[in-house]
Amino acid sequence: MTSHFEAGNHKVLMLLTSDFVTSRYEELRARVPTLQIITELGTEPDPDVTALFSFKLPSGIAPRLPNLRLAASVGAGADGILAAPDLSENVRVTRVIEPGLGLSMAQFVALQILAQFRSLPKLRSQHMAGEWRRIPVPDASKVTVGIMGLGSIGAVVARVIKELGFRVIGWTRSDAREVNVPVFVGKRDIQAFLEQCDYLVCLLPFTTETVGLIDRSLLSKLPKGSYVINVARGGIVVESDLLKLIDEGHLSGAALDVFDTEPLPPSSAFWRREEVLVTPHIAAQPSVIPAVEQFIENLGRLSDREPLIGEIDRSRGY
Ligand code: NAP
Repeated sequence: MTSHFEAGNHKVLMLLTSDFVTSRYEELRARVPTLQIITELGTEPDPDVTALFSFKLPSGIAPRLPNLRLAASVGAGADGILAAPDLSENVRVTRVIEPGLGLSMAQFVALQILAQFRSLPKLRSQHMAGEWRRIPVPDASKVTVGIMGLGSIGAVVARVIKELGFRVIGWTRSDAREVNVPVFVGKRDIQAFLEQCDYLVCLLPFTTETVGLIDRSLLSKLPKGSYVINVARGGIVVESDLLKLIDEGHLSGAALDVFDTEPLPPSSAFWRREEVLVTPHIAAQPSVIPAVEQFIENLGRLSDREPLIGEIDRSRGY
């Protein structure tokens, strides 16, 4: 931890909106018993609160924290914090960076791709029917996996999927990066990128540029029979457009870990679709200890005016 960190210099607000946040709260209390942590805010402004450590920041809270300097997400994305319309531009925002997260996500994405590619549902139904029927082993090098977003997680997923023998391509916002796959950039290249994807994996952040980005127009550019995997944020994919394209037979199906509304309501048509796999936002989860250690480290860096770990560029939104 940075040497100049003094717990007494900070008062932290944690909004315990889920067990996920509560476990981080308990760990933080145990690690820094002298740190003032509150979990509720009165109606009056609290000028002593300097940091927030939560998953969401409902509107109306930030204006009551006039001396807030750091709003840290407990998750790998900061969209739940950045959604607050009244969060001052001067507040620094972070999300959790954990090296193991990329690998964990790569396992999940590989699971979804391989299940389709190696016909797991068909093998299961053959098993249930007591059928011994061999199916040819397909050639992965002839199958293209397109990954939208080659950031801290997407770059690891690209490496692992490539290692499994697939042809991997990526789509990003800017040119400069070090990844060993062909990269397509921005609006200029989106059509050329999509036209090649047998599997489309969404690993973009949720920003004003990506909200509703993957809509009918983009999905229609995928080759017929493509499969969509969204493990980023629900609002990036237009759910009704995705369902229509599956209905029309243009897409073969989808694996969805994230949704517009979570938990996914019982009324959602996704629950009743054989071609869709719904999972409850579990593709990859930052662990408790690294997230809390990063927060403590960042409190120290804040005091020392040093660069923060996982800091969001507020102008880009990620
Ligand atoms: P990141 O490090 O911020 O990387 C974002 C990537 O997306 C970068 O490559 C960036 O391009 C690209 N990008 C951003 N805006 C774009 C745009 N408008 N057009 C094209 N490309 C754009 O993000 P990350 O940490 O890898 O996380 C990726 C996503 O996974 C986030 O949505 C996060 O919330 C989600 N996530 C989900 C789970 C789960 O369990 N389902 C777990 C962890 C994370 P540049 O490289 O050019 O900047």
